[in-house]
Order: sequence, then C-alpha cells, then structure tokens
Amino acid sequence: MAESTITHGPFCPGPELAAWLAGGRDLLIDGAQVPSADGATFTTSDPATGRPLATVARAGSEDVDRAVRAAGAAFERWSRSPGNERERLLLRLADLVERDLEPLAELESLDTGKPFAAARDGDLPLVVELLRYFGGWATKLEGETLPTSDGEDMLVYTRPEPVGVVAAIVPWNFPLSQACFKLAPALAAGCTVVLKPAEQTPLTALWLADLILEAGFPPGVANVLTGFGEDAGAALVAHPGVRKVAFTGSVDVAREIARSCAADLKPASLELGGKSPNIVLADADVARAGRAAAEAIFYNAGQVCSAGSRLFVQREVFDELLEVVVAEARAMRLGHGLDATTTMGPLVSEAQRERVDGWVRRGVEQGATIATGGAQPGGALADGSFFEPTVLVDVADDHAVAREEIFGPVVVAQPFDDLDEVARRANAGDFGLAAGVWTNDLRSAHRLAAGLHTGTVWINSWNRWAAGVPWGGLKLSGYGRDNGRAGLEEYLERKVVWTSLV
Ligand code: ADP
Ligand code: MG
Repeated sequence: MAESTITHGPFCPGPELAAWLAGGRDLLIDGAQVPSADGATFTTSDPATGRPLATVARAGSEDVDRAVRAAGAAFERWSRSPGNERERLLLRLADLVERDLEPLAELESLDTGKPFAAARDGDLPLVVELLRYFGGWATKLEGETLPTSDGEDMLVYTRPEPVGVVAAIVPWNFPLSQACFKLAPALAAGCTVVLKPAEQTPLTALWLADLILEAGFPPGVANVLTGFGEDAGAALVAHPGVRKVAFTGSVDVAREIARSCAADLKPASLELGGKSPNIVLADADVARAGRAAAEAIFYNAGQVCSAGSRLFVQREVFDELLEVVVAEARAMRLGHGLDATTTMGPLVSEAQRERVDGWVRRGVEQGATIATGGAQPGGALADGSFFEPTVLVDVADDHAVAREEIFGPVVVAQPFDDLDEVARRANAGDFGLAAGVWTNDLRSAHRLAAGLHTGTVWINSWNRWAAGVPWGGLKLSGYGRDNGRAGLEEYLERKVVWTSLV
C-alpha cells in the first residue's frame, strides 16, 4: 500500500477529522441522526495522551426502544427485498469505506491507540472484504428440496428466512471490523440491525453511520447507538423486539447476555476471549517461530481475543526461542498511533492498563520471573495507558497468569517435552478459541490440529482471518460463528414447507 498521506502533526487529528469530531456526533435511528432522547453524551479520549477526542450521544433505554422499533418496521420490507438490492447497497457501502479508508484508519488509531498502519492495512481492508463477501451472499440464499419417507407424494422444500432484528454489540479492540463481522452477514441475510459499539471506541461506527446514510440504505435497516453496556447494551439485549444477539466481548458480560436471552429463549452468538496456546516444536524454524510468537502476543498490544498469550516451547529450543521473543519485545517501539515509527500503541484505557499491571503483579507474587517488560514506561509515554511488552517465565500451569486472559502485551512462556503432554496441558484451560503449532513435521502438525480443543488451529501462522473463513470458539470462548457460510447461517432460519401433491 502507498505511504500514508497524513501530513499534519503526528499526535492530533487533521483539520477535516477535527471538524468532524467537533460536529457533535449523534445516534443513527430510523435513517436520521439524532441526539439521545435525554440529551446525554459522553466523551471518548485518546489513550496515548489521555486527551479527549470527541463528545458523542449516549443512548438510553428510550433510544434503544426507538431504534428497535424502527428496525422492526424496516424488517417488513428489507426481509423481502430482492437479494441484488441488498447486495448493491452492501457493495456501495464497501466502496464508501474504501474511499474513506484513510480517515477511518486515522479515527480507529486515535480512538483505540493502535498504530495507524495497522488500522489502514489490517482493520479497514477486512471491513471492505466483509462487506463485499457478504454482499455476494445476498443473491445466493438458496433453499433445498428434501426427500420424505412415507411414500405420499409430497414436495418439501426449505426457505432461508432472516431471523429478524439483530442486536450487534461489539468491543473496542477492532471496533469497525468487529461491527462488520455482525452487520455485513445480518444485512445480507435480510435482517435489520441495531449496532452498539463499545463506549471506549464509538467513533468509526459513527463515521459508518454517515456512510450508511450516504449509501442509501432504507431508514431503520441499520441503526447505530453509541452508549454504555450496562444501560444501552443491557436494554438492547432485553428488548422483546430483538430476535438475535450477536456479541463479541468478555466472558462476564456474555454470561449476563445469555441470562437475559434465556428469558424469552432469544438466540445469541457469543465470541469471547481466550488463552490461546502457541506451540513451538523443536523441529520448527526457531527464528521464524520466535518472531511470529512475539507478533502473536504483541499485535494490537495483546488486546486480541486470540492473542498468543500462552507460549509452549519444546524444551530443547526453549532458551533459543525465548531469546528471539525477548529481543522482539525489546525492539517494539511504543508510541502514539499516528507516529509512523510506532509499532505498539497504548492499551485502550487506563483501566485496562491497571488490569494488565495487576495480572503481572499477581504472576510475580505466584513466582513468575519477568524476562522483559512488566511495567508502565515513563518519560514521554507516562500520560498514556502504555504497558511494556512483557515476557513471563517460571510459571506453573495452575498459576493465574497461565490460565486467565490478560488482554494485554503479556506472554507466558513454558517448556514442554512431548506432544501428548502439551496437548493435554493446552486443553486443560477454560478457553477454546485458537491455537497455533510451529513445526516442519506434517504428522505432528495434524496430530495436534486434531487434538486441540479450539475453534481454530493455525499451523505455521497466527492471527489470520478472512471473511470467508468461520471464526469462533468452544468452552468459555463462546458459541456461534462469525464469517463464512457458518456466519451467515447465524442470521437465517430454515423454514420447511410441506406440500401434498395429491
Ligand atoms: P471489556 O470488559 O473488554 O470492555 P465488555 O464485554 O465489557 O468488554 O464489552 C463488550 C461490549 O459489551 C461493549 O460494547 C460493552 O458496552 C457491552 N456491554 C457491557 N456490558 C453489557 C451488558 N450488561 N449488556 C449488554 N452489553 C454490554
Ligand atoms: Mg476512546
């Protein structure tokens, strides 16, 4: 990709974005941008500096009710609209995101703290791909004819039908791409959507709201409510007009959502966290595996549901591999996301930095040794919520830092001796999102791929996603799938129609 065209100073939004940010960002309800019913707002800030970025509308239960009703009314027509109409609008939205890719990447960088290049080359291209991939599905929602066994002359067929109004609730680590993990398949299927971005990172969803209007989606088809989880999020999940909840976030909130959904047996898909084991065998290319292991944990400052936070290394190469990971950690350049030399930004908030720091302290209390990092950097970075890339060793399997999701740039490295042992130890955890295997031996690779209890196994790779490839977990990593055909099916019912031909 071309070099960034950003020409203003590295730590503030450019003039156009600054004007947009100052504009007072409203909710999108029923095709109109409106303030919240009670006028409430909140401020989102730049985690690298602590400075406020923008004040945005804070949705409450009245706004939730209006948005869900609008989505319900819009569903009547949208659910029966021709697939090529839905495709056209999704492709148009993809084109608009592509047109605005740079300002969107800049907004994502400012709001989350991630390096601008990571947003421009990672988050945003995935958004475009998701909108196009699912746009294509809108014209390919086929039913089937089914055989019967009773000898009567029957025509039995299925009709894929959209489930209804979808509540999409997404986190702050990949704000816009997570939003489109839900929005794109739901709209393609013929569902209407109320999207609630995370309170830490509302900005790109609001820019998307502008683009939804510009693309010409009918009013009410896609609504965007910025607001907090405990009020707007909870009200949205509980609203009787919502027929499906699509959530990515923490296990604790997922439990609350599942309990709320249980009242009227609302289906939910829950994509949660992980403690993903990254397993390096002695026959792997150690230099490559070490660099990749560092990338697996330090990408997005470790704020990735599939962060490679538990590094298992076969004992013969443990020291050698660890040296590579530690060197990579020390070479990371912490800084503001709009500084082109930054390779790792801050954590999303001071609260998150404190949580990560707390886990590291607890690890040390239980006996862990800090091989590198382990603290908040000082100097010019002291005002931001930065945390040093950290490697912990001397950790036992039952220590908290080996079991719990830290959601920060902290990897626990442990040696192992043989394949069965490492599979057993990896599977003993509570999570089941992703795992990685580094080896040059096909048998070891596929034996482990078959034996690991996770939704995804990456062999000689890590953190790969594509619109066409299903993504989701087992155990405390949740249920349901995003992406691919499986992701689309989350938004469809298969109605069966029996017709007697006699
Ligand atoms: P984190 O703890 O990492 O911030 P959360 O799971 O709390 O992650 O947040 C993920 C998303 O869930 C955010 O959009 C947040 O506002 C929302 N959320 C939080 N609590 C609730 C809740 N009780 N009901 C519905 N949504 C919620
Ligand atoms: Mg923010």
